[in-house]
Amino acid sequence: MNKEGLHDQAEEQDKLHRQVERASLFTHTSLTGLAARVNESESFLYALIDLMIQKGVIAPEEVIEIVQQVRKELIEKQEVAHPGLAMRVDGDEGGEHTPVNCEERWHVCNAICCKLDFALNAEEVESGRIKWDMGRPYYIRHEENCFCAHLNLKTKQCGIYQNRPGICKKYSCAKDIRIWKDFEKMELNYDFINTHLREAKPKLIDSPMFTDQKIVYKNEL
Ligand code: SF4
Ligand code: SF4
Repeated sequence: MNKEGLHDQAEEQDKLHRQVERASLFTHTSLTGLAARVNESESFLYALIDLMIQKGVIAPEEVIEIVQQVRKELIEKQEVAHPGLAMRVDGDEGGEHTPVNCEERWHVCNAICCKLDFALNAEEVESGRIKWDMGRPYYIRHEENCFCAHLNLKTKQCGIYQNRPGICKKYSCAKDIRIWKDFEKMELNYDFINTHLREAKPKLIDSPMFTDQKIVYKNEL
């Protein structure tokens, strides 16, 4: 292998290393967060139920009824603990598509739309052709510069053009106010770009196995 080939190989290994690191971080923080919630809830819950049954305050069958009610409430309030996975479900977005001449805009936009974040759909994940972020399954993978991992920055071409995600196929920046302040005058929306289209570091969840925070009951809130 020549020097250039070795360099490319080392670069690919660095990228993979970054992804594995993010994946471990994601797994660790998700599981720790969930374990902490489960441990805490379990100890309080069992203690409370035992006490109430012992004191004759409630009957075991009443517990079952109230548990079902609480489960329903958690689902309605979207407070069910989950590991933070996201998958796109495409609706029937039959809206008007305004074609854009990218080549005449690249000198201004620098393909900034390929920094936008989105989740893949099930088909795209299963195809195995599109890289997703192991730190945030199943979002499209971004490099440290925030550009999509499939974008060739030199040519501004999509490396998986034929197999690019459906959301990319349908995308037009013509009416996207996140990208353009003024589409005709080619004025970018730097407020949005500088705030949202920068590298997002994975968030660490601070979750000790048992919390020493003051216990707040619902009626104290
Ligand atoms: S779709 Fe718009 S933002 Fe994206 S590369 Fe083309 S002109 Fe630039
Ligand atoms: S898949 Fe291609 S078109 Fe879609 S964001 Fe990535 S580089 Fe851009």
